[in-house]
Amino acid sequence: MIDLNPLSTGSYSPHLFHEECGVFGLWAPGPQIADLCYLGLFALQHRGQESAGIAVTNGRHVDEIKGMGLMTEAFRHGRPTLSGHGAIGHVRYSTQGASVLCNIQPLFAYAPGGFIGLAHNGTLTNAETLRAEIAANGGLFRTTTDSEAILNLLATPEAGSVEDRIVQEFPRLEGAYSLVLLTPDQLIGVRDPKGYRPLCVGRLKKGEYVLASESCALDAVKAELIRDLNPGEMAIISAKGLRFRKFSEAKRQSACVFEYIYFARPDSVLDGQSVWRTRFRLGQRLAQEFGEKADIVIPVPDTGITAALGFSETSGLPYLEGLIKNRYVGRSFIMPQQISRETTVEMKLNPVKANLQDKRVVLIDDSIVRGTTSARIVSMVRRAGAKEVHMCVSSPPITQPCYYGIDTSIRKELIAAVKTIPEIKKSLGVDSLHYLSKQGLLNEVEDPDNLRSCLACFD
Ligand code: 5GP
Ligand code: SF4
Ligand code: MG
Repeated sequence: MIDLNPLSTGSYSPHLFHEECGVFGLWAPGPQIADLCYLGLFALQHRGQESAGIAVTNGRHVDEIKGMGLMTEAFRHGRPTLSGHGAIGHVRYSTQGASVLCNIQPLFAYAPGGFIGLAHNGTLTNAETLRAEIAANGGLFRTTTDSEAILNLLATPEAGSVEDRIVQEFPRLEGAYSLVLLTPDQLIGVRDPKGYRPLCVGRLKKGEYVLASESCALDAVKAELIRDLNPGEMAIISAKGLRFRKFSEAKRQSACVFEYIYFARPDSVLDGQSVWRTRFRLGQRLAQEFGEKADIVIPVPDTGITAALGFSETSGLPYLEGLIKNRYVGRSFIMPQQISRETTVEMKLNPVKANLQDKRVVLIDDSIVRGTTSARIVSMVRRAGAKEVHMCVSSPPITQPCYYGIDTSIRKELIAAVKTIPEIKKSLGVDSLHYLSKQGLLNEVEDPDNLRSCLACFD
């Protein structure tokens, strides 16, 4: 297999194309459109901190602003003032070092029928095959992303309408894709037939519509949620308004449960289900499954907080802050190399000794991936004087890597793939270790009439 990544170290990794991202799109003619797009993306910053980009069109041409880093870094000259009728934007989080300028989205192609732009959240599992097929037919690539393969399928010389191309060509795509597309006169949202990644549509005011990875971005621009796109559906927005069209028979939905466990913002509602309420219930369930004696419940901030509140309510144990997070440090996973991930723990967290001293502590986190962060946090809590540490995790052991758009690293790095529970307990240095059961997770995330989940990384 060839390594397409210009910055990679040379070894092949299944995560070559791996990204989790945030996408935002908007149909709102006027001078404020780029600024609204900026606000929407800003609310999705947690979904990607490596690069950001916004593209705006007035139908004749496209203006783009892109840069590496956080929104405030990519837009270091301030909030954008471009005017137009349609805009799309992207915040990116890749994991294999392909953090290069050419890969910043939105990506554009200039086809005979007009331009087409795209921002993608998800990972195609057949990207290499697709890229090879497209290249064999004369297609050219400027980036090393899977997303550009999608752009190539849409922007071919014989192209009919973009919608029709989607219906014709997208059955060739495998894996996860939530997309926002921009043409001279349309904004189109697309959600893959398994609905792995979220995508919703909202209304700003009459004739003005918004597409976003999460509903928290609709709130940021004061848009009202209309609904989530169904798996295998597109939302087509133009001067004529909004309509939906199915492009593929939805298979059994496979919404990523990690959006609820860890990834999405707790103030978002995904597929009709509040992320905060779900996380709280996961914590409650964890408390029901927990059988040890303890004095206090403390979360690993930030993502363990909501589950810890649920745990505290059900167990009756007091919830206290035992670790304080430096709010100027980003998510430690965002560091592409293991080494920087390790040193960030101390930069990020510091214990509150007064709360931990001589206590039997229940430490709540949302997940254990490699176990490196958790081990450091446990030893930090012990050094602060905790008498016992009981680690409770509001998801089951992750034994498989994810191929659909979240970085859970390659299999040998996943601690639960290579170690037994007693071994993990030992390497974390805890008195007891409790993962939420798979059934417990399913009971809390599945609404029998609505959501069907992907649990592939626990199998
Ligand atoms: P570990 O102990 O496995 O090194 O790190 C676990 C911590 O990483 C948890 O606090 C979790 O919130 C955080 N984390 C950061 N990024 C990710 C991610 O992409 N997926 C998952 N599952 N957890 C992540
Ligand atoms: Fe989400 Fe896990 Fe499925 Fe990946 S494998 S989409 S992380 S549930
Ligand atoms: Mg965390």
